[in-house]
Amino acid sequence: MRPRLTILKTDITELDVDAIVNAANKRLAGGGGVDGAIHNKGGIEILRECQEIVTRQGFLETGKAVSTSAGNLPSKYVIHTVGPIYSNSPQDKEQLASCYIESLRIAQLLQVKTIAFPNISTGIYGYPKAEAASVAISTVRNFIDTKAENNCIEEIIFVCFDEENFKLYQQMI
Ligand code: ADP
Repeated sequence: MRPRLTILKTDITELDVDAIVNAANKRLAGGGGVDGAIHNKGGIEILRECQEIVTRQGFLETGKAVSTSAGNLPSKYVIHTVGPIYSNSPQDKEQLASCYIESLRIAQLLQVKTIAFPNISTGIYGYPKAEAASVAISTVRNFIDTKAENNCIEEIIFVCFDEENFKLYQQMI
């Protein structure tokens, strides 16, 4: 089945989906923005699992992803990925695309049907919103096209928290 792409303007921690994606930092230690919201509402269990991962494999590289349970959140899993800190280099785009691809790969391993992404790197990490939206949408579309068969994912939601991102995604999808 070909997953459908949806845009929502909401707080990602409210969503009753199989997996939400967190724009985490390398230390998986919680922080501000969406990361702070997820850890605050999800509770200590998420942080405990994050710490276990870091103890086992070290800090998470930019563009990589890992999963934990979702603690007190309505979703089943949190997929933590580290977006690039924008530096206006060609690497930014590759690393941002990698966040989406790695998260979708994990979602497939977890047999996730519905997954919600925040607008990774467009807050504290300073990625220009229009460029980030273009990378996010083209990467996800490309992933869908190449994995058209054998795909358990039914819906991919782009969660836009601010009006600017919401408008951009509405124009681009
Ligand atoms: P980064 O460090 O990757 O830039 P931020 O959390 O600062 O991460 O911002 C990423 C995006 O998440 C921003 O577009 C911000 O508006 C959005 N965001 C912040 N809080 C939430 C939330 N509770 N739900 C969904 N998106 C959020």
